[in-house]
Amino acid sequence: MKRWLSLAAVVSLLVAASSPRAVARPFEDPRAEQNEALDGDAAYATAPRDPACHVSVLASSGGPMPRDPHTLVVRWTGYTNYELVYNGQILLLDAFFDRGHIYPSLGFHADDVKKVDAILIGHGHFDHMADAAAIAARTGAPVVGAPVTAEKLATQPIDPKQVHVVTGKGGETLQFGSFRVEPILGRHGEPPPTLVDAFSVALKRTAKAPTEDELAEQAGIHQRGSSDRRVIADGTIAYLITLDTGFRILFRDSGGRVTDYEKAAMERSGPVDLGLIAVAASYLNTLNAEQALEHMRTYRPDVYMPGHHDAARNDLWRATEPLFQALKDENPGIVTVSKTYREPTCFNTEVNISRRK
Ligand SMILES: [Zn+2]
Repeated sequence: MKRWLSLAAVVSLLVAASSPRAVARPFEDPRAEQNEALDGDAAYATAPRDPACHVSVLASSGGPMPRDPHTLVVRWTGYTNYELVYNGQILLLDAFFDRGHIYPSLGFHADDVKKVDAILIGHGHFDHMADAAAIAARTGAPVVGAPVTAEKLATQPIDPKQVHVVTGKGGETLQFGSFRVEPILGRHGEPPPTLVDAFSVALKRTAKAPTEDELAEQAGIHQRGSSDRRVIADGTIAYLITLDTGFRILFRDSGGRVTDYEKAAMERSGPVDLGLIAVAASYLNTLNAEQALEHMRTYRPDVYMPGHHDAARNDLWRATEPLFQALKDENPGIVTVSKTYREPTCFNTEVNISRRK
């Protein structure tokens, strides 16, 4: 028995010495199961645990910054809000945080956001831009958006010099520190009106009606966004974001059809490492999955992180698992990630598609 124990001890020592898994690693990259190159990066595999990848506090509201300059931290904060933290800088994608009492709490308020280097607005509906002006005014961050988004910002207390208007039709590449940003004209989602009408009636009949106070609160929030029809065809911008390591991110904040501008841009850039992509609003999983498949085929992400799937009290959360299943049925190698508000997901961007070519 004694001899057996000592043999086991020797084996465990040998395993510890030869396996990078046995030592600390800064975080678990979601691609690790699919991509052996991550284990081959000794610097990543042996670094100590990184608090920035383990706490649910936004870096923009005082949470830790990642230790390694090549670690990207992504946090989803409801709808298609994401925080990207990389190489000492913070990018906000969309800004809709003070959503009102009919929404689940995000665990922070727009006022808590103190440090931002740039804000990219996908489109100008209130549920994508309502807090952009206030945060930009306080932090000095530039805000990027379509002409119709900029028109709305012009009515709000923000220095016009901070607003960068883009059409997404090419030749508008912006650089924010280590983030290179290419705006691409997308198209807003257009869920079938018959479905929207039917579900609206059903929800009205079955969900708790908002109070007078809640209605007034929502009216105030809605005013901080645009309801202009131009948002659909001319005001929805997808952003291709490339880090200095070559790691590529595609942000698409509405579940609409892919445009020729997007097809051309993706043809030029090749597949992306990470897709931050809105789930369509068509209520039925079959329709939402169809739209997710078109997005996957166009952007070809290694990792798919959905957005716009949470909802106010009187609407339905959009299911992500049926989409993940549809994506994996066609592309078994795709990695799908969906976390709760503010939970970090970290990537070792030294490993990316552009380096695998
Ligand atoms: Zn919208």
